[in-house]
Amino acid sequence: MSIAGKKFAIIGAGIVGSALALWLNSQGAKASIYERRSAHAFLKRPTIQKRNINLALSHRGLKSLSLLRLKDAIMPLCCPMFGRRVYPSADESPFFQPYGLPHQAIYSVSRFDLNQMLHNALEKAKSIEMHYDNTLNSEDINIVDKLEAEFDGIFWCDGIHSSGRILLERLGHVTSTIDRANYGYREVPLNGPPIKSKEAQALHIWPRDKSMLIALPQADGHYAGTLFAPLNGIGGLDSTTTQKDFHHTVQSLYLGKESSFSLTDTPLTNLPASWLKSVTVGPWNYGKHLLLGDAAHAILPFYGQGMNAGLEDIYVLSEIAADYKGPDEVFSAFYGRRKIDGDAIKTLAERNYWNMKNGTVNKEQLLYKKFEQFLLTTFPNAFKGQYQRVSFSDEPYHIALAEGDRMYKSCEAFLKDFNNPNEWKTPTAMAACKSLLTSFHAQ
Ligand SMILES: Cc1cc2nc3c(=O)[nH]c(=O)nc-3n(C[C@H](O)[C@H](O)[C@H](O)COP(=O)(O)OP(=O)(O)OC[C@H]3O[C@@H](n4cnc5c(N)ncnc54)[C@H](O)[C@@H]3O)c2cc1C
Repeated sequence: MSIAGKKFAIIGAGIVGSALALWLNSQGAKASIYERRSAHAFLKRPTIQKRNINLALSHRGLKSLSLLRLKDAIMPLCCPMFGRRVYPSADESPFFQPYGLPHQAIYSVSRFDLNQMLHNALEKAKSIEMHYDNTLNSEDINIVDKLEAEFDGIFWCDGIHSSGRILLERLGHVTSTIDRANYGYREVPLNGPPIKSKEAQALHIWPRDKSMLIALPQADGHYAGTLFAPLNGIGGLDSTTTQKDFHHTVQSLYLGKESSFSLTDTPLTNLPASWLKSVTVGPWNYGKHLLLGDAAHAILPFYGQGMNAGLEDIYVLSEIAADYKGPDEVFSAFYGRRKIDGDAIKTLAERNYWNMKNGTVNKEQLLYKKFEQFLLTTFPNAFKGQYQRVSFSDEPYHIALAEGDRMYKSCEAFLKDFNNPNEWKTPTAMAACKSLLTSFHAQ
């Protein structure tokens, strides 16, 4: 049975809802999208961008964009990031930590550019009906019946505060928890080195024990900085901080006097601080309904995977729907396969806050990263670290988590015997490396 000719409702035309509609359209299905915001919000470049201006796009997201034949259109709008450039303190020189092999990069892309590209494609698609300025109200329980009567399937792609999730929970079909982290974030637009330079093509991190500033290069030549910190205290995001205090803190605590980065003069009032949250929900499906993207698995942003995971949802759905029986079966098979991966990437994202904020200046972690890089460049066919598994492959997240942890333990054991990088090329150490990799693959 094919999905061609079937009618689907999609609530939310963010990155996931839009990409899903384009995939349904490519299969000959009909999609009606209900989106709270206006068409302008997606199609007209704002003069002041307030939130989440740039995202890191990696293999999983790109694979789904390839499925939609949109990868070639987005790549020219992306800035590659080949690794982390770490600024250990305001006085010390930065250093570079590659993400993988020299050709491997993740890509910084503006949320607006990505949304605009998707919405331009939606406008051209034959069997997609757009309903902008259309909020589905989570108070109106009758909406569920109305949608069910009209559509063969209903996709809730309405983000972290999903109305669909609230409605299905109220009707007793799903259970969810929203976890609020004990820190938040504020966008910090920065000027910096020319983005075509090698120096620029990285994810820049200023780790400071209890907080960190990061910056992604933007195609327009600026940098999308984000400060992650507790809401209060020194260096915090306290909303009472004045523009002058804020500039002073960012300059003195993070950037330092000699920095090639500086703050833009964007008023602080345009840069509200927000809490970070994640969502756990189960099941993601009920009858004709399916929660997708952040509605099902919103995670902390520290692995740069929230959007990538949401886009990958569509790829996985396309594989399951190839053997289409009906929405109920497809949706429950999807949940059965994908939930374990949603949970795994949530764990990985939570851990990565420490890895970025503290691990980038922690002696053991730095040694581990150096050894990982040594293995990767010396044995590129036999070694894959957790980062490579998550960002440069489509191995299910739960396998990336388990295998990455197993490899970490093997490397830790090696480093107890060989903690001096100058020794790693000696015959004894090379033999130990080979044996480590052989026994890892044998298990
Ligand atoms: C600070 C930060 C940095 C991040 N960085 C990265 C990164 O580098 N890489 C990465 O992969 N991910 C990143 N993410 C995560 C990424 O932003 C999300 O995972 C992604 O946007 C989820 O897409 P979505 O379409 O599921 O939801 P959303 O983008 O939230 O879209 C939901 C859409 O639904 C609409 N909507 C909501 N409610 C209703 C309603 N009731 N009726 C109608 N419409 C409705 C909204 O207007 C919106 O358009 C980051 C997140 C944050 C907070």
